[in-house]
Amino acid sequence: MDATCQCGRLSVTLPGPTSAVVACHCSFCQRRSGSPFGVMAYYPRESLKITGKAARYERPTDSGGIFETFFCPTCGATVYARAGKHPTMLGVPVGAIADVAFPPPVRSVWETRKHPWVTIPEPAEHFPEGRS
Ligand SMILES: [Zn+2]
Ligand SMILES: [Zn+2]
Repeated sequence: MDATCQCGRLSVTLPGPTSAVVACHCSFCQRRSGSPFGVMAYYPRESLKITGKAARYERPTDSGGIFETFFCPTCGATVYARAGKHPTMLGVPVGAIADVAFPPPVRSVWETRKHPWVTIPEPAEHFPEGRS
């Protein structure tokens, strides 16, 4: 199972599906993804194999840490990300996996920023702001 960018030059090989899937409605995730919300699947770094060259962008977080995104320098798609709080884990955007059988989010965060028409299916846990 692979996550790949649009042009295929950057990819991440995953060990399989995971239930550690989080939907985030914050404005950074909206702007990063170009979608009304972001969905990431989290894996231990050592369980993933990264192929290709990535460009990196770092932004500060509300809690004083950093959040890094790694994206294809050719097509711009994010293929993995890392939160400073959890440096041994990488997040992989579920859209980059492009598999409709991938598990849904178990957690939905920053719902204060959620577009009102978006519904995250039960039994996900819901949080008005971030949660680590
Ligand atoms: Zn690409
Ligand atoms: Zn977010």
